[in-house]
Amino acid sequence: MAENPRKVIVIGGGIIGVCSAYYLWEAGYKVQLIEKDEVGMGCSYGNAGLIVPSHIVPLAAPGMISQGLKWLLNPESPFYIKPRLNKRLISWLWLFYKSANAKHVQQSGKGLRDLNMLSRSLFQEISKVEGINFELKKKGLLMLSKSTKYHEEEMEVAHMANELGMEAHEVGPEEIQALNPDIKIDAYRGVHYLKDAHIQPGDFVKSLVKYLEKQGVEFHRGTEVHSFLLDGSKVKGVITSKGEVEADDFVLACGALSPHLSSQLNLNLPMQSGKGYSVTIENAQYKPVTPLILMEAKVAVTPMGRDLRFAGTMEIAGDQLNINQRRVKGILNAIPNYLPEYDRLEEAYSNKAWSGLRPCSPDGLPYIGKFQKFNNVVAATGHAMMGVSLGPVTGKLVAEIIAGERTSVDIKAYNPDRFN
Ligand SMILES: Cc1cc2nc3c(=O)[nH]c(=O)nc-3n(C[C@H](O)[C@H](O)[C@H](O)COP(=O)(O)OP(=O)(O)OC[C@H]3O[C@@H](n4cnc5c(N)ncnc54)[C@H](O)[C@@H]3O)c2cc1C
Repeated sequence: MAENPRKVIVIGGGIIGVCSAYYLWEAGYKVQLIEKDEVGMGCSYGNAGLIVPSHIVPLAAPGMISQGLKWLLNPESPFYIKPRLNKRLISWLWLFYKSANAKHVQQSGKGLRDLNMLSRSLFQEISKVEGINFELKKKGLLMLSKSTKYHEEEMEVAHMANELGMEAHEVGPEEIQALNPDIKIDAYRGVHYLKDAHIQPGDFVKSLVKYLEKQGVEFHRGTEVHSFLLDGSKVKGVITSKGEVEADDFVLACGALSPHLSSQLNLNLPMQSGKGYSVTIENAQYKPVTPLILMEAKVAVTPMGRDLRFAGTMEIAGDQLNINQRRVKGILNAIPNYLPEYDRLEEAYSNKAWSGLRPCSPDGLPYIGKFQKFNNVVAATGHAMMGVSLGPVTGKLVAEIIAGERTSVDIKAYNPDRFN
Protein backbone atom coordinates (compact mmCIF):
# COMPACT_ATOMS: atom_id res chain seq x y z
CA MET A 1 0.00 0.00 0.00
CA ALA A 2 1.57 3.30 -1.16
CA GLU A 3 1.30 6.26 1.27
CA ASN A 4 -0.63 9.23 -0.09
CA PRO A 5 -0.48 12.50 1.87
CA ARG A 6 -3.96 13.61 0.66
CA LYS A 7 -6.73 13.64 3.24
CA VAL A 8 -10.22 12.39 2.40
CA ILE A 9 -13.37 12.80 4.48
CA VAL A 10 -16.14 10.29 3.88
CA ILE A 11 -19.51 11.58 5.14
CA GLY A 12 -21.86 8.75 6.12
CA GLY A 13 -21.07 5.37 7.66
CA GLY A 14 -23.35 2.98 5.78
CA ILE A 15 -22.06 0.23 3.51
CA ILE A 16 -21.27 2.79 0.78
CA GLY A 17 -19.26 5.09 3.05
CA VAL A 18 -17.43 2.20 4.72
CA CYS A 19 -16.54 0.53 1.40
CA SER A 20 -15.33 3.92 0.10
CA ALA A 21 -13.17 4.28 3.22
CA TYR A 22 -11.78 0.78 2.58
CA TYR A 23 -10.67 1.40 -1.01
CA LEU A 24 -9.39 4.91 -0.20
CA TRP A 25 -7.35 3.50 2.67
CA GLU A 26 -6.08 0.75 0.36
CA ALA A 27 -4.97 3.44 -2.13
CA GLY A 28 -2.97 5.06 0.67
CA TYR A 29 -5.12 8.12 1.53
CA LYS A 30 -5.49 9.44 5.05
CA VAL A 31 -9.17 8.68 5.61
CA GLN A 32 -11.63 9.99 8.17
CA LEU A 33 -15.26 8.82 8.21
CA ILE A 34 -17.89 11.03 9.85
CA GLU A 35 -21.17 9.44 10.94
CA LYS A 36 -24.00 11.19 12.76
CA ASP A 37 -25.19 8.09 14.62
CA GLU A 38 -23.56 4.68 14.96
CA VAL A 39 -21.64 3.34 11.96
CA GLY A 40 -23.53 0.71 9.92
CA MET A 41 -26.85 1.16 11.71
CA GLY A 42 -28.78 2.96 8.93
CA CYS A 43 -30.30 1.29 5.91
CA SER A 44 -27.24 -0.95 5.62
CA TYR A 45 -28.16 -2.86 8.78
CA GLY A 46 -31.45 -4.77 8.50
CA ASN A 47 -31.78 -5.21 4.73
CA ALA A 48 -32.05 -8.50 2.84
CA GLY A 49 -28.30 -8.80 2.17
CA LEU A 50 -28.67 -9.92 -1.44
CA ILE A 51 -25.90 -9.46 -3.99
CA VAL A 52 -27.86 -9.25 -7.18
CA PRO A 53 -26.32 -9.49 -10.65
CA SER A 54 -29.86 -10.66 -11.54
CA HIS A 55 -31.21 -7.13 -10.97
CA ILE A 56 -30.54 -5.75 -14.42
CA VAL A 57 -33.86 -3.89 -14.45
CA PRO A 58 -33.80 -0.57 -12.57
CA LEU A 59 -36.69 0.48 -10.32
CA ALA A 60 -37.79 2.94 -13.03
CA ALA A 61 -39.19 0.38 -15.51
CA PRO A 62 -42.31 0.07 -17.67
CA GLY A 63 -45.21 -1.37 -15.72
CA MET A 64 -44.09 0.23 -12.42
CA ILE A 65 -46.43 3.21 -12.92
CA SER A 66 -49.57 1.16 -13.67
CA GLN A 67 -48.75 -1.48 -11.02
CA GLY A 68 -47.93 1.29 -8.52
CA LEU A 69 -51.27 3.02 -9.15
CA LYS A 70 -53.14 -0.25 -8.51
CA TRP A 71 -51.23 -0.82 -5.27
CA LEU A 72 -51.75 2.72 -3.98
CA LEU A 73 -55.22 2.00 -2.67
CA ASN A 74 -54.22 -1.12 -0.73
CA PRO A 75 -52.79 -0.35 2.76
CA GLU A 76 -50.97 -3.72 2.87
CA SER A 77 -49.47 -3.48 -0.64
CA PRO A 78 -45.71 -3.63 -1.24
CA PHE A 79 -45.48 -0.20 -2.94
CA TYR A 80 -46.88 3.10 -1.75
CA ILE A 81 -46.39 6.79 -2.43
CA LYS A 82 -47.81 9.09 0.22
CA PRO A 83 -49.52 11.92 -1.70
CA ARG A 84 -48.01 15.26 -0.63
CA LEU A 85 -47.75 18.72 -2.15
CA ASN A 86 -43.99 18.72 -1.95
CA LYS A 87 -41.88 20.27 -4.71
CA ARG A 88 -39.06 17.72 -4.40
CA LEU A 89 -41.48 14.78 -4.55
CA ILE A 90 -43.37 16.15 -7.56
CA SER A 91 -40.17 16.76 -9.49
CA TRP A 92 -38.87 13.26 -8.52
CA LEU A 93 -42.14 11.66 -9.72
CA TRP A 94 -41.90 13.49 -13.02
CA LEU A 95 -38.31 12.31 -13.55
CA PHE A 96 -39.31 8.76 -12.53
CA TYR A 97 -42.19 8.83 -15.03
CA LYS A 98 -39.84 10.01 -17.80
CA SER A 99 -37.37 7.18 -17.04
CA ALA A 100 -39.85 4.32 -16.68
CA ASN A 101 -39.62 3.11 -20.28
CA ALA A 102 -38.24 0.17 -22.27
CA LYS A 103 -35.37 2.22 -23.74
CA HIS A 104 -34.08 3.12 -20.27
CA VAL A 105 -34.26 -0.53 -19.17
CA GLN A 106 -32.42 -1.61 -22.31
CA GLN A 107 -29.72 1.02 -21.85
CA SER A 108 -29.19 0.33 -18.14
CA GLY A 109 -28.97 -3.50 -18.23
CA LYS A 110 -25.38 -3.94 -19.33
CA GLY A 111 -24.07 -1.24 -16.97
CA LEU A 112 -25.90 -2.72 -13.99
CA ARG A 113 -24.59 -6.17 -14.89
CA ASP A 114 -21.02 -4.88 -15.02
CA LEU A 115 -21.33 -3.02 -11.72
CA ASN A 116 -22.90 -6.01 -9.97
CA MET A 117 -20.49 -8.59 -11.37
CA LEU A 118 -17.43 -6.54 -10.43
CA SER A 119 -18.89 -5.94 -6.97
CA ARG A 120 -19.50 -9.66 -6.53
CA SER A 121 -15.87 -10.45 -7.29
CA LEU A 122 -14.73 -7.66 -4.95
CA PHE A 123 -16.84 -9.19 -2.16
CA GLN A 124 -14.97 -12.39 -2.86
CA GLU A 125 -11.60 -10.61 -2.68
CA ILE A 126 -12.51 -8.83 0.57
CA SER A 127 -13.70 -12.12 2.11
CA LYS A 128 -10.16 -13.48 1.71
CA VAL A 129 -8.46 -10.59 3.54
CA GLU A 130 -7.07 -11.77 6.85
CA GLY A 131 -8.85 -9.97 9.68
CA ILE A 132 -12.10 -9.35 7.78
CA ASN A 133 -14.66 -11.97 8.74
CA PHE A 134 -18.01 -12.36 7.07
CA GLU A 135 -19.71 -15.15 5.18
CA LEU A 136 -20.23 -14.77 1.44
CA LYS A 137 -22.74 -17.39 0.33
CA LYS A 138 -22.91 -18.11 -3.38
CA LYS A 139 -26.23 -19.92 -3.62
CA GLY A 140 -27.93 -17.91 -6.36
CA LEU A 141 -31.43 -16.47 -6.05
CA LEU A 142 -34.84 -17.99 -6.73
CA MET A 143 -37.65 -15.75 -7.96
CA LEU A 144 -40.82 -17.66 -7.05
CA SER A 145 -44.22 -17.02 -8.59
CA LYS A 146 -47.66 -18.29 -7.64
CA SER A 147 -49.24 -17.15 -10.91
CA THR A 148 -48.51 -17.46 -14.62
CA LYS A 149 -48.63 -13.64 -15.05
CA TYR A 150 -45.75 -12.96 -12.65
CA HIS A 151 -43.79 -15.97 -13.83
CA GLU A 152 -44.04 -14.88 -17.45
CA GLU A 153 -42.85 -11.38 -16.52
CA GLU A 154 -39.87 -12.85 -14.70
CA MET A 155 -39.11 -15.16 -17.65
CA GLU A 156 -38.74 -12.02 -19.80
CA VAL A 157 -36.17 -10.68 -17.34
CA ALA A 158 -34.44 -14.09 -17.31
CA HIS A 159 -34.27 -13.95 -21.10
CA MET A 160 -32.61 -10.50 -20.94
CA ALA A 161 -30.26 -11.77 -18.21
CA ASN A 162 -29.23 -14.76 -20.36
CA GLU A 163 -28.58 -12.46 -23.32
CA LEU A 164 -26.25 -10.47 -21.07
CA GLY A 165 -24.44 -13.66 -20.13
CA MET A 166 -26.01 -14.06 -16.69
CA GLU A 167 -27.10 -17.62 -16.15
CA ALA A 168 -30.80 -17.91 -15.35
CA HIS A 169 -33.11 -20.84 -15.85
CA GLU A 170 -36.67 -21.80 -15.28
CA VAL A 171 -37.37 -24.25 -12.46
CA GLY A 172 -40.49 -26.22 -11.59
CA PRO A 173 -41.88 -27.01 -8.13
CA GLU A 174 -39.90 -30.26 -7.74
CA GLU A 175 -36.59 -28.59 -8.55
CA ILE A 176 -37.39 -25.67 -6.22
CA GLN A 177 -38.09 -28.13 -3.41
CA ALA A 178 -34.98 -30.19 -4.18
CA LEU A 179 -32.82 -27.06 -3.93
CA ASN A 180 -34.37 -26.30 -0.53
CA PRO A 181 -34.97 -29.59 1.27
CA ASP A 182 -35.41 -28.07 4.77
CA ILE A 183 -38.49 -25.98 4.14
CA LYS A 184 -41.82 -26.61 2.38
CA ILE A 185 -42.25 -24.35 -0.65
CA ASP A 186 -45.52 -23.81 -2.46
CA ALA A 187 -44.90 -22.09 -5.81
CA TYR A 188 -46.15 -22.41 -9.35
CA ARG A 189 -42.72 -22.00 -10.94
CA GLY A 190 -39.52 -20.02 -10.49
CA VAL A 191 -36.43 -18.58 -12.11
CA HIS A 192 -33.06 -19.53 -10.69
CA TYR A 193 -30.34 -16.88 -11.10
CA LEU A 194 -27.07 -18.68 -10.53
CA LYS A 195 -24.69 -15.73 -10.11
CA ASP A 196 -26.45 -14.10 -7.15
CA ALA A 197 -25.06 -14.36 -3.64
CA HIS A 198 -25.84 -13.15 -0.13
CA ILE A 199 -24.28 -11.90 3.09
CA GLN A 200 -25.33 -10.83 6.58
CA PRO A 201 -25.00 -7.07 5.85
CA GLY A 202 -24.56 -5.99 9.49
CA ASP A 203 -21.67 -8.46 9.98
CA PHE A 204 -19.99 -7.32 6.77
CA VAL A 205 -19.98 -3.62 7.69
CA LYS A 206 -18.98 -4.31 11.30
CA SER A 207 -16.05 -6.47 10.28
CA LEU A 208 -14.81 -3.94 7.71
CA VAL A 209 -15.00 -1.11 10.29
CA LYS A 210 -13.07 -3.14 12.88
CA TYR A 211 -10.39 -3.90 10.31
CA LEU A 212 -10.12 -0.28 9.12
CA GLU A 213 -9.87 1.06 12.67
CA LYS A 214 -6.89 -1.26 13.23
CA GLN A 215 -5.30 0.16 10.07
CA GLY A 216 -5.63 3.72 11.37
CA VAL A 217 -8.76 4.95 9.58
CA GLU A 218 -10.46 7.47 11.91
CA PHE A 219 -14.17 7.07 12.63
CA HIS A 220 -16.02 10.07 14.13
CA ARG A 221 -19.23 8.60 15.52
CA GLY A 222 -22.15 10.66 16.77
CA THR A 223 -20.89 13.58 14.65
CA GLU A 224 -23.30 15.20 12.23
CA VAL A 225 -22.06 17.16 9.24
CA HIS A 226 -24.16 20.33 9.00
CA SER A 227 -22.44 22.28 6.24
CA PHE A 228 -19.24 22.98 4.34
CA LEU A 229 -16.29 25.39 4.38
CA LEU A 230 -15.64 26.77 0.91
CA ASP A 231 -12.58 28.08 -0.85
CA GLY A 232 -13.82 29.33 -4.25
CA SER A 233 -15.02 26.32 -6.24
CA LYS A 234 -13.46 23.90 -3.77
CA VAL A 235 -14.74 22.52 -0.52
CA LYS A 236 -12.03 22.79 2.09
CA GLY A 237 -13.78 21.37 5.12
CA VAL A 238 -16.95 20.29 6.89
CA ILE A 239 -18.74 22.00 9.76
CA THR A 240 -19.92 19.30 12.14
CA SER A 241 -21.80 19.11 15.43
CA LYS A 242 -18.36 18.76 17.08
CA GLY A 243 -16.36 21.36 15.16
CA GLU A 244 -14.68 21.86 11.80
CA VAL A 245 -12.56 19.30 9.96
CA GLU A 246 -10.51 20.06 6.84
CA ALA A 247 -9.46 17.73 4.02
CA ASP A 248 -8.52 17.65 0.32
CA ASP A 249 -11.41 15.52 -0.98
CA PHE A 250 -14.90 14.67 0.23
CA VAL A 251 -17.25 11.75 -0.36
CA LEU A 252 -20.98 12.30 0.06
CA ALA A 253 -22.36 8.92 1.19
CA CYS A 254 -25.27 9.89 3.43
CA GLY A 255 -27.75 7.44 1.88
CA ALA A 256 -31.31 8.73 1.68
CA LEU A 257 -30.33 11.88 3.58
CA SER A 258 -27.68 12.94 1.03
CA PRO A 259 -29.84 15.72 -0.52
CA HIS A 260 -29.96 17.53 2.83
CA LEU A 261 -26.20 18.05 2.57
CA SER A 262 -25.93 18.51 -1.20
CA SER A 263 -28.45 21.35 -0.90
CA GLN A 264 -25.93 23.12 1.39
CA LEU A 265 -23.73 23.34 -1.72
CA ASN A 266 -26.70 24.34 -3.91
CA LEU A 267 -26.41 21.02 -5.74
CA ASN A 268 -29.51 19.35 -7.10
CA LEU A 269 -29.54 15.63 -6.24
CA PRO A 270 -33.07 14.32 -6.83
CA MET A 271 -33.79 11.59 -4.30
CA GLN A 272 -36.63 10.11 -2.28
CA SER A 273 -36.44 7.77 0.69
CA GLY A 274 -37.93 4.35 -0.12
CA LYS A 275 -38.81 2.94 3.27
CA GLY A 276 -38.69 -0.82 3.67
CA TYR A 277 -39.18 -3.21 6.55
CA SER A 278 -37.65 -6.46 7.67
CA VAL A 279 -38.36 -9.07 10.30
CA THR A 280 -35.67 -11.50 11.43
CA ILE A 281 -36.44 -14.89 12.95
CA GLU A 282 -33.60 -15.98 15.17
CA ASN A 283 -32.65 -19.66 15.15
CA ALA A 284 -35.24 -20.33 12.47
CA GLN A 285 -36.46 -23.90 12.34
CA TYR A 286 -37.21 -23.89 8.61
CA LYS A 287 -34.80 -22.22 6.22
CA PRO A 288 -34.23 -22.22 2.47
CA VAL A 289 -30.70 -22.81 1.20
CA THR A 290 -31.21 -20.36 -1.67
CA PRO A 291 -32.52 -16.86 -0.95
CA LEU A 292 -36.00 -16.35 -2.37
CA ILE A 293 -37.98 -13.46 -3.77
CA LEU A 294 -41.72 -14.01 -3.51
CA MET A 295 -42.79 -12.31 -6.69
CA GLU A 296 -46.43 -11.32 -6.12
CA ALA A 297 -45.71 -10.18 -2.55
CA LYS A 298 -42.34 -8.56 -3.41
CA VAL A 299 -40.82 -10.07 -0.28
CA ALA A 300 -37.20 -11.23 -0.03
CA VAL A 301 -36.38 -14.24 2.15
CA THR A 302 -32.72 -14.59 3.11
CA PRO A 303 -31.09 -17.27 5.26
CA MET A 304 -28.45 -15.57 7.43
CA GLY A 305 -26.48 -18.09 9.47
CA ARG A 306 -28.97 -19.55 11.94
CA ASP A 307 -31.47 -16.79 11.27
CA LEU A 308 -33.99 -16.11 8.54
CA ARG A 309 -34.87 -12.59 7.36
CA PHE A 310 -38.01 -11.45 5.53
CA ALA A 311 -37.80 -8.02 3.89
CA GLY A 312 -40.02 -5.95 1.67
CA THR A 313 -42.16 -2.87 0.94
CA MET A 314 -41.22 0.36 -0.80
CA GLU A 315 -42.94 3.34 0.81
CA ILE A 316 -42.16 6.78 -0.61
CA ALA A 317 -43.42 8.73 2.38
CA GLY A 318 -40.69 11.08 3.61
CA ASP A 319 -37.58 10.61 5.74
CA GLN A 320 -39.20 9.22 8.90
CA LEU A 321 -38.38 5.72 10.13
CA ASN A 322 -41.75 5.17 11.83
CA ILE A 323 -43.21 1.72 11.27
CA ASN A 324 -46.51 1.33 9.46
CA GLN A 325 -47.98 -1.84 10.97
CA ARG A 326 -50.35 -2.39 8.03
CA ARG A 327 -47.39 -2.77 5.64
CA VAL A 328 -45.55 -5.10 8.05
CA LYS A 329 -48.75 -7.14 8.27
CA GLY A 330 -48.79 -7.19 4.45
CA ILE A 331 -45.32 -8.76 4.42
CA LEU A 332 -46.01 -11.30 7.18
CA ASN A 333 -49.38 -12.39 5.84
CA ALA A 334 -48.04 -13.02 2.35
CA ILE A 335 -45.35 -15.46 3.49
CA PRO A 336 -47.45 -18.57 4.30
CA ASN A 337 -48.82 -18.53 0.73
CA TYR A 338 -45.34 -19.62 -0.35
CA LEU A 339 -43.87 -21.04 2.87
CA PRO A 340 -46.80 -22.77 4.63
CA GLU A 341 -44.75 -23.66 7.72
CA TYR A 342 -44.63 -19.92 8.59
CA ASP A 343 -48.34 -19.48 9.21
CA ARG A 344 -48.17 -17.71 12.59
CA LEU A 345 -45.76 -14.89 11.88
CA GLU A 346 -48.12 -11.98 12.42
CA GLU A 347 -48.90 -12.88 16.06
CA ALA A 348 -45.26 -13.26 17.04
CA TYR A 349 -43.40 -10.74 14.90
CA SER A 350 -45.61 -7.82 13.89
CA ASN A 351 -44.10 -5.58 16.60
CA LYS A 352 -40.50 -6.68 15.94
CA ALA A 353 -39.98 -5.04 12.56
CA TRP A 354 -36.93 -3.00 11.55
CA SER A 355 -37.18 -0.14 9.06
CA GLY A 356 -34.65 1.48 6.72
CA LEU A 357 -34.65 4.21 4.08
CA ARG A 358 -33.41 3.24 0.62
CA PRO A 359 -31.79 6.16 -1.20
CA CYS A 360 -33.84 6.21 -4.43
CA SER A 361 -32.83 8.25 -7.47
CA PRO A 362 -35.66 8.82 -9.99
CA ASP A 363 -34.10 6.66 -12.74
CA GLY A 364 -33.15 3.81 -10.40
CA LEU A 365 -29.41 4.28 -11.05
CA PRO A 366 -26.87 5.34 -8.42
CA TYR A 367 -25.02 8.64 -8.28
CA ILE A 368 -21.30 7.93 -8.53
CA GLY A 369 -18.96 10.69 -9.67
CA LYS A 370 -17.67 14.21 -9.08
CA PHE A 371 -19.97 17.20 -9.09
CA GLN A 372 -19.10 19.62 -11.84
CA LYS A 373 -19.50 22.62 -9.53
CA PHE A 374 -17.25 21.26 -6.75
CA ASN A 375 -14.52 19.20 -8.26
CA ASN A 376 -13.31 17.71 -4.99
CA VAL A 377 -16.70 16.33 -3.88
CA VAL A 378 -17.65 12.82 -5.03
CA ALA A 379 -21.23 11.55 -4.82
CA ALA A 380 -21.62 7.92 -3.74
CA THR A 381 -25.31 7.43 -3.11
CA GLY A 382 -28.73 6.73 -4.63
CA HIS A 383 -28.33 2.94 -4.78
CA ALA A 384 -31.99 2.24 -3.92
CA MET A 385 -32.52 -1.55 -3.76
CA MET A 386 -28.89 -2.37 -4.61
CA GLY A 387 -26.72 -0.58 -2.05
CA VAL A 388 -25.41 -3.79 -0.51
CA SER A 389 -24.81 -5.40 -3.85
CA LEU A 390 -22.97 -2.35 -5.19
CA GLY A 391 -21.10 -1.45 -1.98
CA PRO A 392 -17.60 -2.69 -2.90
CA VAL A 393 -17.71 -1.56 -6.54
CA THR A 394 -18.86 1.92 -5.46
CA GLY A 395 -16.00 2.13 -2.96
CA LYS A 396 -13.49 1.08 -5.61
CA LEU A 397 -14.86 3.61 -8.12
CA VAL A 398 -14.75 6.40 -5.53
CA ALA A 399 -11.04 5.71 -4.91
CA GLU A 400 -10.35 5.62 -8.65
CA ILE A 401 -12.25 8.89 -9.23
CA ILE A 402 -10.37 10.69 -6.46
CA ALA A 403 -7.06 9.39 -7.78
CA GLY A 404 -7.99 10.68 -11.25
CA GLU A 405 -7.55 7.16 -12.67
CA ARG A 406 -9.49 5.53 -15.47
CA THR A 407 -12.44 3.86 -13.74
CA SER A 408 -12.91 0.07 -13.80
CA VAL A 409 -16.32 0.48 -15.45
CA ASP A 410 -17.92 3.29 -17.44
CA ILE A 411 -19.60 5.66 -14.96
CA LYS A 412 -21.20 8.16 -17.39
CA ALA A 413 -24.72 6.92 -16.61
CA TYR A 414 -24.18 7.57 -12.89
CA ASN A 415 -23.15 11.24 -13.24
CA PRO A 416 -24.58 13.09 -10.19
CA ASP A 417 -25.31 16.15 -12.39
CA ARG A 418 -27.41 14.18 -14.91
CA PHE A 419 -30.71 15.83 -13.95
CA ASN A 420 -29.37 19.39 -14.17
C1 LIG B 1 -36.05 -3.72 3.51
C2 LIG B 1 -34.80 -3.47 2.69
C3 LIG B 1 -34.21 -4.54 2.02
C4 LIG B 1 -33.08 -4.31 1.22
N1 LIG B 1 -32.45 -5.39 0.64
C5 LIG B 1 -31.35 -5.18 -0.11
C6 LIG B 1 -30.66 -6.28 -0.72
O1 LIG B 1 -31.03 -7.44 -0.54
N2 LIG B 1 -29.58 -6.03 -1.49
C7 LIG B 1 -29.12 -4.75 -1.71
O2 LIG B 1 -28.15 -4.59 -2.45
N3 LIG B 1 -29.73 -3.69 -1.12
C8 LIG B 1 -30.83 -3.87 -0.34
N4 LIG B 1 -31.45 -2.80 0.24
C9 LIG B 1 -30.94 -1.46 -0.04
C10 LIG B 1 -29.70 -1.15 0.79
O3 LIG B 1 -29.95 -1.47 2.13
C11 LIG B 1 -29.33 0.33 0.63
O4 LIG B 1 -29.23 0.66 -0.75
C12 LIG B 1 -27.99 0.61 1.29
O5 LIG B 1 -27.99 0.19 2.64
C13 LIG B 1 -27.66 2.11 1.23
O6 LIG B 1 -26.42 2.29 1.87
P1 LIG B 1 -25.87 3.72 2.18
O7 LIG B 1 -24.53 3.55 2.78
O8 LIG B 1 -26.01 4.57 0.97
O9 LIG B 1 -26.92 4.31 3.22
P2 LIG B 1 -27.09 4.09 4.87
O10 LIG B 1 -26.79 2.70 5.20
O11 LIG B 1 -28.39 4.64 5.18
O12 LIG B 1 -25.91 4.97 5.39
C14 LIG B 1 -25.91 6.37 5.34
C15 LIG B 1 -25.32 6.88 6.64
O13 LIG B 1 -25.14 8.30 6.55
C16 LIG B 1 -25.38 8.85 7.82
N5 LIG B 1 -25.65 10.29 7.66
C17 LIG B 1 -26.70 10.86 7.04
N6 LIG B 1 -26.61 12.21 7.09
C18 LIG B 1 -25.45 12.49 7.76
C19 LIG B 1 -24.80 13.70 8.12
N7 LIG B 1 -25.30 14.89 7.81
N8 LIG B 1 -23.63 13.63 8.81
C20 LIG B 1 -23.07 12.41 9.12
N9 LIG B 1 -23.67 11.24 8.81
C21 LIG B 1 -24.82 11.26 8.11
C22 LIG B 1 -26.58 8.06 8.33
O14 LIG B 1 -26.71 8.14 9.72
C23 LIG B 1 -26.26 6.66 7.83
O15 LIG B 1 -25.58 5.90 8.80
C24 LIG B 1 -32.57 -3.00 1.07
C25 LIG B 1 -33.16 -1.94 1.77
C26 LIG B 1 -34.27 -2.16 2.57
C27 LIG B 1 -34.88 -1.02 3.31
